[in-house]
Amino acid sequence: MTNQKWDGISKSTKAVWAGEEETFFEGAAQVPIINSVSYNHDDVDEWLEVALGKREGHIYSRNTNPTVKVFEEKMRVLEDAEAATSFSTGMAAISNILFTLLSPGQRVVSVKDTYGGTSIVFMEHLPRFDINVTMCETHDQDAIEAETLNGCDLLYLETPTNPTMKVLDLKRLIAAGKKAGAIIVVDNTFATPINQNPLALGADLVVHSATKFIGGHSDALGGIVCGREDLVNKIYGFREINGATLDANSAYLLLRGLKTLKLRIECQNSNAMALAQFLETHEKVDKVFYPGLKSDPAHDIAKAQMSGFGGMLSFSLKGGFDAVRHFLPQIRFAHRAAHLGGVETIVGPPRTTSHVELTEIQRQELGIPESLIRCSVGIEGIEDIIADFDQALADI
Ligand SMILES: *Cc1c(COP(=O)(O)O)cnc(C)c1O
Repeated sequence: MTNQKWDGISKSTKAVWAGEEETFFEGAAQVPIINSVSYNHDDVDEWLEVALGKREGHIYSRNTNPTVKVFEEKMRVLEDAEAATSFSTGMAAISNILFTLLSPGQRVVSVKDTYGGTSIVFMEHLPRFDINVTMCETHDQDAIEAETLNGCDLLYLETPTNPTMKVLDLKRLIAAGKKAGAIIVVDNTFATPINQNPLALGADLVVHSATKFIGGHSDALGGIVCGREDLVNKIYGFREINGATLDANSAYLLLRGLKTLKLRIECQNSNAMALAQFLETHEKVDKVFYPGLKSDPAHDIAKAQMSGFGGMLSFSLKGGFDAVRHFLPQIRFAHRAAHLGGVETIVGPPRTTSHVELTEIQRQELGIPESLIRCSVGIEGIEDIIADFDQALADI
């Protein structure tokens, strides 16, 4: 599908209108939640054409659904992609990409700091199908580039990474992937299409956990893959059969969240920057990890490839895990949870959440201090967030 009719239209307008320009069933101005499992076809010839994909329409909601289709179209336009297909969760999207596009004997190059679930697919599941996965040191762009040029069928990137906000040089690594003839996939969950567009830099596919910033309200799970039409169609073909389908009710919530995506992300970008700058000068904070800070080793690369630095940051406290134990309960306006991307500020220590299964040594190897706190900065008033963190830090 071409995006010509969206040329020159701003992301704010796309977030509000893409997929929703026509009126719906009975003239509804808002997208109806279609819970019907199947669709009637009174004309057998038309039915056949829909079944063969020669005519627009729906057959069975495991495959396609009108509410879900609007969500896919909005994301397709926001990522300026040829095609998009959706999933029940972000992990379903990632698993479907990998299990559709890879075959025994092939090789994946990626990094050690991918999302925890993705790492498990790399370490435990792909090898069972004789697919070799090389996970490079995330900060070592030379090594990632060299391994890619060494022979790579699928280059899997994620940036910024969880939880220490490392940044991969997309332009450089995508060039290496292209040279190697690899399919290039980027997990764009932390950045969102507002801050970063890997397809514009040459990636073949972009994947999101829509559960996070896309939905933005922490009340719906979902995943989406956008990119090259031939690849997306193949992935859809596998998802249609394995059944990791996005539900219409969730698609509606994600669509509703998406309308304010630009507003939310701009606010979270500026709140996270202000909080990172405040934390950086605080005597009880050991280190702040945020690519927006000029002191951050990844600042220059981030500045070149992102139009905003995002709502995610992390920081370590002086005083080890005991300090974390005292700090977290004092925070008034934040959820203490293993989640991110919502309108509320969310804090959690990787030591007890995303990286709980690792030993202290393994966390050290990934550069994760024991006293690290990951923070998904919300849309609250920044003066309240800073005052809240300040009073909680005073008491540790
Ligand atoms: C949460 C997350 C995922 C997985 O998404 P789910 O919707 O929880 O399955 C994948 N990648 C990143 C970067 C995430 O933060």
